[in-house]
Amino acid sequence: YPPERIRNFSIIAHVDHGKSTLADRLLELTGTIQKGHGAQYLDKLQVEKERGITVKAQTATMFYKHTVENPESHGTDTSSYLLNLIDTPGHVDFSYEVSRSLAACQGALLVVDAAQGVQAQTIANFYLAFESNLSIIPVINKIDQPTADPDNVKAQLKRLFDIDPSEALLTSAKTGQGLSQVLPAVIERIPCPPGNCDSPVRMLLLDSYYDEYKGVICHVAIVDGAMRKGDKISSAATGRTYEVFDVGIMHPELTPTGVLYTGQVGYVITGMRSTKEARIGDTLHQAKTIVEPLPGFKPVRHMVFSGVYPADGSDFEALSHAIEKLTCNDASVSVTKETSTALGMGFRCGFLGLLHMDVFHQRLEQEYGAQVISTIPTVPYIFEYGDESKVQIENPAALNFNAGKRITACWEPTVIATIIIPSEYVGPVIMLCSERRGEQQEYTFIDANRALLKYRLPLREIIVDFYNELKSITSGYATFDYEDSEYQKSDLVKMDILLNGQPVDAMATIIHNQKAQKVGRELVDKLKKFIERQMFEITIQAAIGSKVIARETLSAMRKNVLAKCYGGDITRKKKLLEKQKEGKKRMKRVGSVDIPQEAFHELLKVS
Ligand code: GDP
Ligand code: MG
Repeated sequence: YPPERIRNFSIIAHVDHGKSTLADRLLELTGTIQKGHGAQYLDKLQVEKERGITVKAQTATMFYKHTVENPESHGTDTSSYLLNLIDTPGHVDFSYEVSRSLAACQGALLVVDAAQGVQAQTIANFYLAFESNLSIIPVINKIDQPTADPDNVKAQLKRLFDIDPSEALLTSAKTGQGLSQVLPAVIERIPCPPGNCDSPVRMLLLDSYYDEYKGVICHVAIVDGAMRKGDKISSAATGRTYEVFDVGIMHPELTPTGVLYTGQVGYVITGMRSTKEARIGDTLHQAKTIVEPLPGFKPVRHMVFSGVYPADGSDFEALSHAIEKLTCNDASVSVTKETSTALGMGFRCGFLGLLHMDVFHQRLEQEYGAQVISTIPTVPYIFEYGDESKVQIENPAALNFNAGKRITACWEPTVIATIIIPSEYVGPVIMLCSERRGEQQEYTFIDANRALLKYRLPLREIIVDFYNELKSITSGYATFDYEDSEYQKSDLVKMDILLNGQPVDAMATIIHNQKAQKVGRELVDKLKKFIERQMFEITIQAAIGSKVIARETLSAMRKNVLAKCYGGDITRKKKLLEKQKEGKKRMKRVGSVDIPQEAFHELLKVS
């Protein structure tokens, strides 16, 4: 296939507007997959199936015969095209994956739900595609729904993105209506990939993952030239050279072709030992040639950090192994070893966002059977000392106000949030945003009933429970997206949690001074609820420096749990003991106090 017969496109949309379903239909339509295979084909990970979201972008190649009228012969011409479809995740945390996918595309289908209209991630994704100079084909999907209002959606697209209403395709990925127009539009409206077929090979490394049998598999987009099995290729980033053992397309399973030509998207297997050698955004090129590296990707920016510890101290090796395996397939997580006096040996992990963190924890448990305790998530703060040196703090415990160095200034990261809501909810949303220390940037209407609000918000204020609260005060109607923005100066303090007077390093947080009282109270209350009474009295305190701002006491246990059935019902006694043992497994002993795993989980939810 020469580049003229290749199209590389992506599907972008707000979550649930039908990307994955549409992708499936297109794969069926081209005979790439069989009908009735069940759930969305490209959502391979278990968490994706369970949550119905796409976490990792997946690529598939399809073949399609396109027929056009030929005015000269008064007949028709049919040519076969190679189409590379790249499904993308819609959630904010994964916009990194979206922009990465777009780098290999010349066009995108912008899918919008005909009833819900443009939502927050539609806007974010549109701009990602627009900034990458892609041809955008608007697809108004779910027109089968009774509340579908495609004309209103067309008006929104015109108003927000200046898209001509006549360009919109109307489809239902459910009934199949309108789907036959999609691929012809892709071929006619999206340009073919640029590139020089005769140059030495040069390709962009889009993604990589580790397969137990095949080793490191790289997804690549060939920009110039061709790559054949047996060729030698080098990495522009590391200078290392590899032999091409296998090369082919995702059809949608790995299908060896022996060669990939200019404009194609496919996979390559070399002797790489770890995905760490396969740097996403790197340029791979013919060995022994000097090439201009392709513009790479924005480096990943970790927005949320949290400690990950084994729920049972002896499991450290197992956890370490599981994390190693998992990060092999998710290079967007950063991992460093850390030690906590309270929790022992563990890891500090950096994530793209809270959902990313959740997904990581869930995968650790589901795919590797690891039981973990995670600490209160924190954002990367910057502190300046009297001598003008600056440090980025990713673990609150590492910040020591008494280390002899005076802190003279602190900064916290902010985001620009886009919120779309039916107009009757504007009041409560403005209130929520100002409670969260937000600063209004924009307030407009996108149609007769829907408002768009833009706020600058401290990242710390949105990572914990902001989205849930936003959803609940708007009866689920609000949609939300954000992009990272600058750091702002802030009045930050470190809050310690003390159990029987001993600070628990894993529970320390950095927090805005104004919020300290409220959060301290909530943390102490939560802990009181979740720590079980023990044989002695336990005091729980929140403190800033030496000043205690909240305090509770858990009185000593008076009765023996077994006293009641002592000597009586043996099975009941056994059951109780087993239950106690079960509970123990999920406990952490901090000093002399046993803290159940749930207590740590609950602490994550305090804003
Ligand atoms: P994604 O998050 O954008 O990938 O969305 P999905 O493809 O997972 O679809 C979200 C939900 O919408 C699923 O329950 C689909 O079955 C449903 N859906 C997708 N397309 C249509 C459509 O054209 N009509 C209707 N009624 N439902 C659809
Ligand atoms: Mg999906």
